[in-house]
Amino acid sequence: MSNRTARRTHSFTESLIRDMTRVARAHGAVNLAQGFPDFPAPQLLKDAACRAIQDDVNQYAVTWGTPSLRAALARKYREWYGMDVDEDREITVSCGATEAMAAVMLALVDPGDEVIVLEPFYENYGPDAVLCGARPVYLTLTPPEFRLDPERLRSLVTKRTRAIVLNTPNNPTGRVFGQEEMEAVADVCREHDVLAVTDEIYEHILYEGSHVPLATFPGMRDRTVVVSGLSKTFSVTGWRIGTIVAPPVLTSAIRKVHDFLTVGAPAPLQEACAAGLDGLGPDYYEGMTRAYAERRDVLHAGLAETGFECAKPEGAYYILAGFSSHSALDDVAFSRWMAKECGVAPVPGSCFFGRPEDGRDLVRFAFCKRTATLERAVERLRAFFG
Ligand code: GLN
Repeated sequence: MSNRTARRTHSFTESLIRDMTRVARAHGAVNLAQGFPDFPAPQLLKDAACRAIQDDVNQYAVTWGTPSLRAALARKYREWYGMDVDEDREITVSCGATEAMAAVMLALVDPGDEVIVLEPFYENYGPDAVLCGARPVYLTLTPPEFRLDPERLRSLVTKRTRAIVLNTPNNPTGRVFGQEEMEAVADVCREHDVLAVTDEIYEHILYEGSHVPLATFPGMRDRTVVVSGLSKTFSVTGWRIGTIVAPPVLTSAIRKVHDFLTVGAPAPLQEACAAGLDGLGPDYYEGMTRAYAERRDVLHAGLAETGFECAKPEGAYYILAGFSSHSALDDVAFSRWMAKECGVAPVPGSCFFGRPEDGRDLVRFAFCKRTATLERAVERLRAFFG
């Protein structure tokens, strides 16, 4: 049989992030590559999931999300952000924020459209754009501040610009974009009739101040699609519960794509996430932030002390680090070498850039791990690079 594959698959590779998890396993390395916790999920969620399964909530949920979860999400958006969200017409539950981003792009972006993506960017946005035939246009932010320059953003807008993707708190830079930067995005969206697609999956993981959704900026609610999910908030990345909030016209299109891609997210786990949103209060969220701040400090100190060049993240749970004082290898070779020889696995920086060479001196470390795991990693870094 001939070995023909569709052209749309030819311009991107498999995920380097998930590849490094396999490399870490093969070498018994501490996996600071793919961002998933190694500590338990909240007991309340686990009990609610088991109960739902025992109660035989085991068939398809409503395709766009089980009523209890959509109601809990509408409450969340009202209580946290003062947003009025109609759970019947404006919320879609997807299989993780990953499916959410793909479904949103497929529903709202036409072939030939341009999508502005802040670079470095979470790996998935490139393939998401390619899969819908769009062209990603990168707004490159430069280290160490990674600030968004409004003039440069404006200079990238053309007649074909359909959407701007904004991820804050940001993976991989750790930035939490400030009021002025957010306003610049909002201004461009309003002036040029462009959509904002915001990835807010780390909305509850930030170390100073609070998260402000772009959708709450004047005139933005009608032109913003808010993507998030419970993976990071409740440490259940394997449950695949993502969420999308968008105005009704956009939601109708997104729901159609979602329905034919996956039908729906796991029914019992949606019930459990609803129980988590309803049952976990300020103590849970404060405790989570405190624990992440401690983990961040352990890893940041360890990396800085062993010669990696890195800033302390303002949010999310990653540290992007320069390794040029250690090696002239490229980022992929260096990551594999580190996993094998040092026993700590990072993610190659090139997967966060449109041109791989722009990330060749960078690696990303995730610190969503027990403090003991991070201390073990730091001991290995000291023994190897110290
Ligand atoms: N967001 C996580 C990361 O950047 C992983 C997400 C995934 O693999 N789906 O590592």
